[in-house]
Amino acid sequence: MANDQENLLKKVISHAKEYGFVFPSSEIYDGLSAVYDYGQNGVELKNNIKEYWWKFMTQMHDNIVGIDAAIFMHPTVWKASGHVDAFNDPMIDNKDSKKRYRADVLVEDAIGKMEEKIEKEIEKAAKRFGESFDKKMFSETNPRVLEYKKKVDEANERLKNAMTGNDMVAMKQLIVDLEINDPISGTKNWTDVRQFNLMFSTEMGSIAEDANKIYLRPETAQGIFVNFLNVQKTGRMKIPFGIAQIGKAFRNEIVARQFIFRMREFEQMEMQYFVKPGTEMEAYEFWKAKRMKWHQALGLGTENYRFHDHLNLAHYANAACDIQFNFPMGFKELEGIHSRTDFDLKSHEKFSGKKLQYFDTESNQSYVPYVVETSVGLDRLFLSILSNSYKEEKLVPKNIGTDGEEGNERVVLSIPAALAPYKIAVLPLVKKDGLDEKAKSVVDQLKSTFRCYYEEKDTIGRRYRRMDAIGTPYCITIDHQTLQDNTVTLRDRDTMKQERVAIQSLKEKIGESVSMIKLLQSI
Ligand code: ATP
Repeated sequence: MANDQENLLKKVISHAKEYGFVFPSSEIYDGLSAVYDYGQNGVELKNNIKEYWWKFMTQMHDNIVGIDAAIFMHPTVWKASGHVDAFNDPMIDNKDSKKRYRADVLVEDAIGKMEEKIEKEIEKAAKRFGESFDKKMFSETNPRVLEYKKKVDEANERLKNAMTGNDMVAMKQLIVDLEINDPISGTKNWTDVRQFNLMFSTEMGSIAEDANKIYLRPETAQGIFVNFLNVQKTGRMKIPFGIAQIGKAFRNEIVARQFIFRMREFEQMEMQYFVKPGTEMEAYEFWKAKRMKWHQALGLGTENYRFHDHLNLAHYANAACDIQFNFPMGFKELEGIHSRTDFDLKSHEKFSGKKLQYFDTESNQSYVPYVVETSVGLDRLFLSILSNSYKEEKLVPKNIGTDGEEGNERVVLSIPAALAPYKIAVLPLVKKDGLDEKAKSVVDQLKSTFRCYYEEKDTIGRRYRRMDAIGTPYCITIDHQTLQDNTVTLRDRDTMKQERVAIQSLKEKIGESVSMIKLLQSI
């Protein structure tokens, strides 16, 4: 990560804490790794992001409905989905550096290095022999190349066997035999390898038997798959249709860092779109374009988003891509769009013994639908908005001259107005002469329409700074003139420009620019 970018992330983290957006979990006990709490401003921003997603997906698509499934599910769900057997990473610790690694990644890196050596031998020989060089012959006969190749093949074979046979003793032996050093401490002082399932488990009921073991869901999608027929039948849904859900998911990530980008408890907003087999690619392209438009309507800069196609597809997918965002750590996954075929529904049919098919009245046929899913991390969206809108600005003289502005720099969060925690701050210039009462009466008039902040302490300039720092789009100042003619100053967060506005026209004046409806219409 470049230094500026690293600094930006640090600044965003401390700003988020200082201004009540995100706190480390259980901070008085020194926190809990990769778990965070949302504060008084964070929860508002988060709720507004959810509303933006929920309304777009459900209200603006008449063939999409939502559900709210439980976090606990029958344990067989996770057998059928493949998570019990395959949502694993083998991990190993180095006792000197105290760093944790994925054991398979360490072996793959070591194999990669041996392959590089083969390439180097070939390159050297090609130079030595010039025109007459026969690469195939050389690779098949040169003793050194053959020796490396043998080692690579052996290592690959042993890695495959250890992984498929779940043999972590063999995995450790492989790391020892390959003489792998910790990249940080340089030593070979390794712990044993442990297979690590990323799912959290707990027990249901009072008897701690294996049969009572249940999991905290690692994705929300399965709650939708198991309810597919319930919703289709009771909602009389016709294919193509979608089911949307917002909810918590839990993953015991081995390497969890980068603030709320990779958490152990996080929130997903997912939609599974059920289609007729054979039409899934059309749906996939449709949702790719729609989701990208939804992101870009936020106004964080179209250049900050890009698609990234998956080259190694999961065995059940026939197309998959990510929408990446330009985070302070660089372009990283924000949302996944996957064409999952009929894998999940078929597997649930097999494990539950129940039919999960759609009866198509037009063709008089039953079939298991194909699924295209869109899956976005709410916390990652939150981070994309927070990091993109964090700005340190030097105030040019013209701004310093603007009424009440203090100092020559400011930190402002230019959060999209419709998502801002507060839309308006109402500030009496001084707390006397009845200005405070007048200000409170303005709050009373506006608070059923907009979330308002009232503050009477400190100079007006300091209060403006605090509102900038939490991204409040408008400040309304009540001064002595207000008492005479019922006008106020309306200050714009981004331009810092002020204008005189009649109290009765405030709703109309502010309404459009902070409106969720307007934002939804712009997609
Ligand atoms: P990654 O490759 O970054 O681990 P993933 O491919 O495992 O992510 P998916 O299983 O596709 O992620 O989950 C869908 C979305 O859920 C991701 O695009 C991301 O926004 C979010 N997400 C996944 N894991 C986490 C996490 N540990 N913390 C926060 N958000 C997450």
